[in-house]
Amino acid sequence: MRNPQLNGDGKLQHLLTIEGLPREILVHILDTAASFIGVTEREVKKVPLLRGKSVFNLFFEPSTRTRTTFEIAAKRLSADVINLNITVSSSTKGETLLDTVDNLCAMHADMFVVRHSSSGAAHLIASHVAPHVHVINAGDGRHAHPTQGLLDIYTIRHYKKDFTGLSVAIVGDVLHSRVARSLIHGLTTLGAPDVRVIGPRTLLPTGVEQLGVSVHHDMREGLAGCDVVVMLRLQNERMKGPLLPSAQEFFKSYGLTPQKLVLAKPDAIVMHPGPMNRGVEIDSSVADGPHSVILPQVTFGIAVRMAVMSILAGN
Ligand code: ASP
Repeated sequence: MRNPQLNGDGKLQHLLTIEGLPREILVHILDTAASFIGVTEREVKKVPLLRGKSVFNLFFEPSTRTRTTFEIAAKRLSADVINLNITVSSSTKGETLLDTVDNLCAMHADMFVVRHSSSGAAHLIASHVAPHVHVINAGDGRHAHPTQGLLDIYTIRHYKKDFTGLSVAIVGDVLHSRVARSLIHGLTTLGAPDVRVIGPRTLLPTGVEQLGVSVHHDMREGLAGCDVVVMLRLQNERMKGPLLPSAQEFFKSYGLTPQKLVLAKPDAIVMHPGPMNRGVEIDSSVADGPHSVILPQVTFGIAVRMAVMSILAGN
């Protein structure tokens, strides 16, 4: 079956999910992002690659990091950026998603960055718009968050150089996490041989092993000897009914503390997509400690989003 995010030449037309993306495309995005790091660090942080293009940030769910870094990335590529906070606009007046999109296309939109609580929202828009319009999924329900997955693998590659021989532990609420799904697809496509998910049975999806990961319910056992620890937020807003005794109980078993981190390799890095809940999934001394690369993740996210937008616009 044809991948809906690739055009007839096999090039990236939309970025909707990492699942099924060829390795070469992932590597091309990472390499392009690396070339933008220099731009983001110099005094005049702009290149003209998207000059004259209009990028619409369509956020139907709240976001701080993702929305802001997409805006910065588009501005650094010299695009015109229009931010729409739809939760307080058209949809509350009853307009459908595709009617909103049609109206923005009538204003000559070239690219949509879409965040929505429903899985598949970005796919729906991508299948609806004209061929010159590109769509980037900035998080749809619990399904996918491809640019977060890409910035996570960029960060891992930056600190660990390559994926061969790497052990990566993803800890916490995998069930509700689009970040975990995107990261797992990225890591397995790039050949990371040992990806582990760690969490209570109630927060791991049934059949998660089929994604190519091993499953651990004991955090100490799961962390043993790993190179990378990725902590996830408890997605309370997506939980239907009580899945945990309490946040304190969760922290006791699955919170990342210095005592648990010593079980990982001495040079292990600690990541978190944010927003992080200190004392729930991560202890402050770890979040702010020498192993943490949580803030560099945010910085790398700008270059990665610049890479995705410039590649789409060039295809
Ligand atoms: N910011 C990430 C997301 O939008 C992670 C999170 O919210 O926990 O999925």
